[in-house]
Formats: sequence, C-alpha cells, structure tokens
Amino acid sequence: MDTDPPPSDVELRRERKRTKWAFVALIGLICAAVAGGAAWVLHADTTDHWLAVHTGTINEPGPYYGFWSGFGSDLAEFGILGAIATGVYQLVKKYNCHEPGCWRVGTHPAAGGQFLLCYRHHPEYKGKRPTHEMIERLHREHITQQAAIHDRLNEIQKRLAPGAVHGDARVDSADERVSERHEMDNHHTQ
Ligand SMILES: [Zn+2]
Repeated sequence: MDTDPPPSDVELRRERKRTKWAFVALIGLICAAVAGGAAWVLHADTTDHWLAVHTGTINEPGPYYGFWSGFGSDLAEFGILGAIATGVYQLVKKYNCHEPGCWRVGTHPAAGGQFLLCYRHHPEYKGKRPTHEMIERLHREHITQQAAIHDRLNEIQKRLAPGAVHGDARVDSADERVSERHEMDNHHTQ
C-alpha cells in the first residue's frame, strides 16, 4: 500500500518560491537589457563606431553596401531563428501541463482528453507519481467500466432491434435513449 501523504504545504510553498525566483530572474534580464540600452545611448560614439566596424557598415563603396553585405545579410537568419523560437514555443504550449503556472510536461489526459496534465496536477494521481499498483488499479477500473458500457449498449440495441425499423420507432428510440442516459448517469453517481 502507498502511505505517502499528499503534497504538503511545505512542498507547495517550495514550488511557489521556485516560480517566484523564475519571475525575479526574468525581471533581472529585462533590467539588464534596459541598462545595456541606456549604456549604448550614453556612449553612442564609441558603440556606434564599434558596431559599424563589426557589422561591416563602414569602409565599403556606397553608404548601404556594407550593411547589406555585412550585418544585413544575416537578417534572414534572424527570421529563421524567430521561426524556430515560435515552433519551440508552440511545442511547449502544446505539451506543457495545463495547470496554470505549471512548467512540467503534461502527458496525462484528464476529462476525456480536454486537458493534458503532469502527474502532480492530475486529479487521479493526487500529486504523486503513479505507482505500479495505481497503474494496475486504474487499468482494471478502466476495463471494468468499458465492459459495463459495452454490455449496456448491447442491451439497448437488443431491446431496440425488433421495433426499430422506420418512422415512429425512431422517436421511441430517441426517448428511450434519453431515459437510458439518465439511468446511466444515476448509475455513475452511485
Ligand atoms: Zn502540472
């Protein structure tokens, strides 16, 4: 038997702290970028000359020849890099856990595949990695459920088969289907 307690407050707090630090790091990066931009503006003469030399914008025939044969020719590569970055972003969005703020890979479908969740946020796993026992139990439950649904459908089909030709029978079967669904719902909630 599994006797691990569910994720404690300490663990949850630790996770929240980790998210907070990621946020702080992001803010730090933005600040560094802003500081870099400010330094560039303040020392414009030096940086512009350095940039001009290193991007090949000076000492070439014509004012823009150097740009297009130097740094400018790399612009297409930035487009490719952008496309790759977008692709990676889309992939992350597709496979990361649907729990807001969670960065784990979510591979466990919930609610009939509407959500992909990590083991920690999947309601059936209760915050723990699925153990071998849990996998076996859920598998057995799934098979039992499928068999029950299958039996029920067979039963309904048998009951409908003699009368279900055309016309009125179709109306009857629709009514019956509704009542069957109610019965099944009741069965599930028990
Ligand atoms: Zn998650």
